[in-house]
Amino acid sequence: MKISFHGAAREVTGSCHLVQSGELKLLLDCGLIQGGKERHERNREPFDFDASELTHVVLSHAHIDHSGRLPLLCRAGFTGPILTTPATADLCRILLEDSAHIHEEDARWKIKRLRKKGLDTEWVKPLYTRADAQAALERLVPVEFGEEHDLGPGGSLRLTKAGHILGAAIVELELCEDDRSRRVAFSGDLGVDGARLLGGAESIQRPDYLLIESTYGNRSRSAEEDRTQSLLRVIERTVDRGGKVLIPSFAVGRTQAILARINDLVEAGKLAGLDVWVDSPMATEATSVFARHPESYSDAARKIMRCGDEPLEFPGLHFTQSVEESIELNHSTEPGVIVSASGMCTAGRIKHHLLHHLGDARNTVLFVGYQARGSLGRAIQSGTSPVRIFGEWIAAQADVETIQGFSAHADREELLSWFEQLGGVPRKTFIVHGEEEASLAFAESLQEGFGADVEVPQRTQEFDLD
Ligand SMILES: [Zn+2]
Ligand SMILES: [Zn+2]
Repeated sequence: MKISFHGAAREVTGSCHLVQSGELKLLLDCGLIQGGKERHERNREPFDFDASELTHVVLSHAHIDHSGRLPLLCRAGFTGPILTTPATADLCRILLEDSAHIHEEDARWKIKRLRKKGLDTEWVKPLYTRADAQAALERLVPVEFGEEHDLGPGGSLRLTKAGHILGAAIVELELCEDDRSRRVAFSGDLGVDGARLLGGAESIQRPDYLLIESTYGNRSRSAEEDRTQSLLRVIERTVDRGGKVLIPSFAVGRTQAILARINDLVEAGKLAGLDVWVDSPMATEATSVFARHPESYSDAARKIMRCGDEPLEFPGLHFTQSVEESIELNHSTEPGVIVSASGMCTAGRIKHHLLHHLGDARNTVLFVGYQARGSLGRAIQSGTSPVRIFGEWIAAQADVETIQGFSAHADREELLSWFEQLGGVPRKTFIVHGEEEASLAFAESLQEGFGADVEVPQRTQEFDLD
């Protein structure tokens, strides 16, 4: 039995780990490498293993840094099943399609630019196409949470709720080789305790070998303000002066987390008569996937649902469909809330909303997610004015607010307490999915706190699972 690491090793993105036992060759995740041009180019390199020899892929969740190279894997000859939860399978249909669309658009732009300069364009190819994504989607095989799934001779699989995003799973493998049996668990990405819809990660039994993420392995969420109250304060103040709150938000996950909190406020009798528009086709589609998969919600959220409250449905919530409706929203003078993508204001309908609303002091732009350096979102957030949107210079007159802490990742304390719940220390713990500094710091915490035997693997490093 062996394990080797092919991504998210001393970095966050590109999650990809290979477990081999007897006849089984299982790939855990096959994610896109993200963060800058140089890293992105690595996605084009061939896999370090023969894709056609893999027997299964197990996908922990739909985020592109876990699923985004699946189309390439299939193109490289993988013909087995991609096992994942039904909710993840549904979200993949949105996210992989979108990812392929972005790659196709990138290639189209590049060709256009090169042609203008009279240069050769023959070599420009999208990383993958929508047809490639479709081929990967056809390999998805849903496995319910808690189900014992047979992997054929020598193994079985079980998926447990990780919180994090809809459908996200902790992967537990029961493997037999010769007379030995070993349990290997992969945390995937772990969620935040008390997250409104999904809750935190469920506990599992001590495995022999553990792979655990460490995104926030060296960070603690500070004594945070109550996010729902902050939201209420910003919305009330803006609406009282007749303005609109613009919330740039990632379409999948973050948008639904915001809606669930506004839902709670409306259901509690606050914000009477408030209009909330979700203006992003992808967010609308993702919200309907959320509504179809309450099995992924936390027990607390399901309890509220049993009392008749759908967490993503409340009076005053509208989903715009057509471009015309979106444009109409730009010109309306009614106060309210607009939630739109992209999360960093780099593309999508939110740019049109900013163009029309940023110059009006009655409005507020509310950030609820990370704004990368160089993005329009970061410029607005840091008070730059004027900013250039679609070639026009707009003086930023609107209020700018940020509510921190909407991240979907467990922090250091939550990771440690999840580890503690294993009820014993694994033979070896591999720390993955973190910047090197975070992974090393978290490894030290596990060593010091629990006497754990830890490894922070390098890319392509291989270990025996004795
Ligand atoms: Zn994730
Ligand atoms: Zn991740």
